[in-house]
Amino acid sequence: MSTTYDRAHELSHLSIHLDAQQMIERARAEGIETVWDRLRAQEPQCGYCQLGLSCRNCSMGPCRIDPFGEGPQKGVCGADGDTIVARNLGRTITGGASSHSDHGRDILEVFARVANGEASGYQIADEAKLRRIADELGLVSEGRDTNEVARDLAKELMENYGIAKNSLSFIGRVPQVRRDRWKELGITPRGIDRENVEMMHRTHMGVDNDYVNILLHALRTALSDGWGGSMIATELSDIMFGTPQPVTSEVNLGVLKLDQVNIAMHGHNPLLSDVIVAAAQDPALVELARSYGANGINVVGLCCTGNEMLMRKGVPMAGNHLMQELVMVTGALEAMVVDYQCIMPSVVDVAKCYHTQVISTSDKAKFPGATHMSFDPQRGEEIAHDIVRAAVEAFPNRNQDRVRIPVSPVRMMGGFSVEAILAALGGTAQPLIDAIAAGSIRGAVAVVGCNNPKLPQDREHIELTRTLIEHDILVLVTGCAAIANGKAGQMMPESAALAGPGLRALCEALGVPPVLHMGSCVDNSRVVQLAGALANAMGVDIDSLPLAGAAPEWYSEKAVAIGTYVVGSGITTVLGVQPPIFGSPHVVSLLADGLDAVVGAKFAVEPDPYKAALLIRRHIEAKRAALGLPFIADDQIHDDEAASRVTTTAGSARV
Ligand code: SF4
Ligand code: SF4
Repeated sequence: MSTTYDRAHELSHLSIHLDAQQMIERARAEGIETVWDRLRAQEPQCGYCQLGLSCRNCSMGPCRIDPFGEGPQKGVCGADGDTIVARNLGRTITGGASSHSDHGRDILEVFARVANGEASGYQIADEAKLRRIADELGLVSEGRDTNEVARDLAKELMENYGIAKNSLSFIGRVPQVRRDRWKELGITPRGIDRENVEMMHRTHMGVDNDYVNILLHALRTALSDGWGGSMIATELSDIMFGTPQPVTSEVNLGVLKLDQVNIAMHGHNPLLSDVIVAAAQDPALVELARSYGANGINVVGLCCTGNEMLMRKGVPMAGNHLMQELVMVTGALEAMVVDYQCIMPSVVDVAKCYHTQVISTSDKAKFPGATHMSFDPQRGEEIAHDIVRAAVEAFPNRNQDRVRIPVSPVRMMGGFSVEAILAALGGTAQPLIDAIAAGSIRGAVAVVGCNNPKLPQDREHIELTRTLIEHDILVLVTGCAAIANGKAGQMMPESAALAGPGLRALCEALGVPPVLHMGSCVDNSRVVQLAGALANAMGVDIDSLPLAGAAPEWYSEKAVAIGTYVVGSGITTVLGVQPPIFGSPHVVSLLADGLDAVVGAKFAVEPDPYKAALLIRRHIEAKRAALGLPFIADDQIHDDEAASRVTTTAGSARV
């Protein structure tokens, strides 16, 4: 018979947060299946796939390579393990890069309609940024009408997707020395769609069979995402919805309101969420909610649509990837409005156990069982009103006896665009460079990416980040990693108390947290942009800087694309979940070692957050030494204290 202790112990291996643990228990009690149940049902998962050694690229297969050398060493076509692993990785990166870049294209198309006066509910929110980017790209902005400038910018950026331009508009942000290196390697991205389509072509049977050649093109494909599709998504979202500025909000399931209509916006694209937030404040809809006995309409975020809303409008955040089913188990959610990416098909099944409406909005992302309300930017405002009305009309179906909102929310700060960071520093990056040079800040690390049910939710994010800031390393967060750190109370100016003395002093002087929320997954483009700007200011390449990346709990193809463009840009990155490449020692050796010689950065895999922190600290100190900055010698870097620390249980933490 399982004791209370056993149960608590088992739950703590699923998530470190109290809100998640309580909702998992409740789901179990009510017979509702969640992601953790389905993972268990899939185990043991296929070892060939985990090693990257299975291929189903054609119908002569599927084929598998025996990792022990006793069975087949070639697929039916003759492809060996190196080719198969590299092809699989190339296609994974293409899946991620295409997702970000198609998101960027959707934003760009609406931006073009705004410029042509054809969209309802949208405008240019940051005209100064529009003109600044137009000038940066060599378009004439002075003395011209805003919409004319926007039309020119839209045309310029549309050409990034095709082959006519043969380069990316934002490539000028990359330090010249790195551009030269890319050119030498033949990995300069030429066009977003071109690189993605070429990767699919190369990985067809009988095209590219050289694992090195395949992986070099994978780098180019990923770079077309980071400096192309994702950067377009970020910059145009800023122009249309406002460039984020520091803003305080709240996070965890406690942001749901017992007495209000609750609407969760889930997915990635800010196009619809922005007009929904406005519609939820419409007095007529608020009055309708009151007529049903609710005290208002409460819009909350999930995953990266949530990050987009939090960054620009301070909209509260219900949770990250693994909270999407659990938010409905509260019994307090009237509608989950989804766009695309990272939305589990299972949300429709969980919703059926409650009164929750799942409303899909993108014609390219339909969910059987959901209500589809097709998003059309020409009728953005009207559709947003229809969606909010549908949520309000679900409120009378709520069974208040089943409602359980488990915890109180935790405060978190977001809004650290590159512009906001520079503004906090007084207008230039120089104070940050000075602090790094003096050693009061050792360096900076981008902790990004997802949750993965194979790991205790958020533990790796939180422990890695906490250990880094304790050692005076500034942490930049995006995506689900940002939400994890927010829930742990590590993202308020007061959280500077958790940092080492140098980082603490800088954060207190500037009034910022030691963990800066830079936005959604596409906003990792802000991270590489900032790295490029720092490198340019210091007159070095990005790989010389004391920087690193980490994706401790990644699950998504997009995270692989991000990690790859971050490494291709010169920033060594540590993964917490093993990628499916270990079937090829050659591919592992190239990614974990050989890449360093060509792009000045590489991948590492380390699931233990303390060991990952140690690895990152050593890397940062080595970069400092190479720059001639004061450094800590390798044998003096210890982490005994952190290694013995017990896991944070942050669900009800308050700052
Ligand atoms: S491409 Fe080659 S290895 Fe892949 S399934 Fe076809 S025959 Fe098998
Ligand atoms: S961090 Fe990962 S799980 Fe979270 S929204 Fe981004 S891709 Fe999805």
